[in-house]
Amino acid sequence: MTLTEPDLAATSPARTDWGHLWPHFTRLSSPRVPVITRGEGAYLWDDRGRRVLDGLSGLFVVQAGHGRRELAQVMAEQASQLAYFPVWGYGTRPALELADRLAAAAPGDLDRVFFTTGGGEAIESAWKVAKQYFKLMGKPLKHKVISRAVAYHGTPQGALAITGLPAMKQQFEPLTPGGFRVPNTNFYRATEHADDLEAFGRWAADRIEEAILFEGADTVAAVVLEPVQNSGGCFTPPPGYFARVREICDKHDVLLVSDEVICAFGRHGTTFACEKFGYQPDIITCAKGMSSGYAPIGAMITTNRVVEPFLHGRTTFPHGYTFGGHPVAAAVSLANLDLFDAEGLNQRVLANEQAFGDTLRKLLDLPIVGDVRGDGYFWAVELVKDKATRHTLDADERERLIRGYLPEALFDNGLYCRPDDRGDPVVQVAPPLISGQAEFDEIERILRHTLTEAAELL
Ligand code: PLP
Repeated sequence: MTLTEPDLAATSPARTDWGHLWPHFTRLSSPRVPVITRGEGAYLWDDRGRRVLDGLSGLFVVQAGHGRRELAQVMAEQASQLAYFPVWGYGTRPALELADRLAAAAPGDLDRVFFTTGGGEAIESAWKVAKQYFKLMGKPLKHKVISRAVAYHGTPQGALAITGLPAMKQQFEPLTPGGFRVPNTNFYRATEHADDLEAFGRWAADRIEEAILFEGADTVAAVVLEPVQNSGGCFTPPPGYFARVREICDKHDVLLVSDEVICAFGRHGTTFACEKFGYQPDIITCAKGMSSGYAPIGAMITTNRVVEPFLHGRTTFPHGYTFGGHPVAAAVSLANLDLFDAEGLNQRVLANEQAFGDTLRKLLDLPIVGDVRGDGYFWAVELVKDKATRHTLDADERERLIRGYLPEALFDNGLYCRPDDRGDPVVQVAPPLISGQAEFDEIERILRHTLTEAAELL
């Protein structure tokens, strides 16, 4: 069929409400949402002049808050001096300094920093380095990765194979082979040891050993876990969980990767969250809050043990990214970390986390709120149909609330945060680390009002 000009215009993909933009993880058929034009501190403004509280730090990113002129200034200066040079065979001052800074902040001998431009690339890098490490160590069969159900670790095809969300993967199968899943630490919906958190944690950790044995320890390279799992809604580690995981990894010579893409840089009140939760990983992956979002940057940080076989002769890690360790991104990350020190952002989170949790837990008097859980400035409010039975929302109700009513109503009521149902339906809140009780109260007030109205739609 030959299309006429008007037909072509009518079928042009540009004719959605999004113009030519292809938004991420968003239905192109959805109506266009507000255009964000400005940020200042913990607040955002849209193109209609509306002001909303940024209850998600953009996407768990803007730790130091929006509109920090001192960070913009550092970026301008670095761009004037040296806007770009790769870290392929050369160093740049910002990349060298930032690597030193991260190595000094990371616990134990996590001393070697490989820069990326984001979290998915950091995960990808961790898997590749784990595979090559074991080849260099004479254990070439070790290549598989174990991760947890419902966990999100990024969209590159390797990272996606580590991700525990079947719906996010099925369109892209076959993915990189070698990803295997174990249960997460969702205690609210525990089917084993539901009355004993510590026993539940031991049970969940032991599933990792079981998976290693099922697959054959000689074939498993790494276990990839977030300190607090985001997807599914802030599953915190039960007491003893990570100690047991560390023991299992040591026993079977498997590398423990702490995916701190969300949890690092103060989200839990420490530079790296493994420190807060008391375990020593072999690799940390991080991104998001490193620069507070002023420029894209991520990293994989390895221990001396992992880097050791790469230190000799002609051995290299044949892997890299054009923009990994970008000078402007590295310079602004250093300035961001200076700001963490000058303003005591980690200490602020530690001092306020209890109050933040207490404020959000007030929502538990609403019939639609089944659970409130989290740590630091990283919380989830789980929505239920029936509080007594913990019965969750069905597919239609999720469609109406999670994708339909809530995002717009929350924004209209003055709060940007994230209704999410990759696992059971939750509202995720993670404000900038400069927030305090006034912002916690505002979040609680808007959630209370909006969730009360949402419950009437069930
Ligand atoms: N890992 C975790 C735990 C994440 O939350 C994310 C993104 O949200 C990623 C990896 C992927 O990071 P990016 O989107 O920067 O590729």
